[in-house]
Amino acid sequence: MGDCIFCKIIRGEIPCSKVYEDERILAFNDINPEAPVHVLIIPKAHIDSANYIDEENSEILAHIFLAAKNIATQLGVAESGYRIVNNCGEQGGQTVKHIHFHLLGGRNLKWPPG
Ligand code: 5GP
Ligand code: ZN
Repeated sequence: MGDCIFCKIIRGEIPCSKVYEDERILAFNDINPEAPVHVLIIPKAHIDSANYIDEENSEILAHIFLAAKNIATQLGVAESGYRIVNNCGEQGGQTVKHIHFHLLGGRNLKWPPG
């Protein structure tokens, strides 16, 4: 996925503020944070969006949610609370077409988001 901005971050072609990495996923601080904690968690294998989850690749979601809980604990928001968000498609607010999960915390988050 040559043009994908998150694939470029994974390849180290664009710098990021890394929070966590293993062989399957990367987590880094959002460049435009909406909350004191705003981390993006992405699979290293490119998946366009939630619409492209299938039987073959869905296991990565469990891995991402386990990492999200560990990152929330590490960043001190596990007890106060946090939100994990996936935007899918145009009306869902997805701007980067490489599936990602926002981990938001450190303030009271509005609901519904609007
Ligand atoms: P989406 O709107 O697709 O759910 O979220 C994309 C997120 O990626 C946005 O919150 C945006 O601030 C973030 N983002 C876009 N480009 C970059 C980048 O180059 N580096 C980092 N760290 N975050 C980015
Ligand atoms: Zn990608």
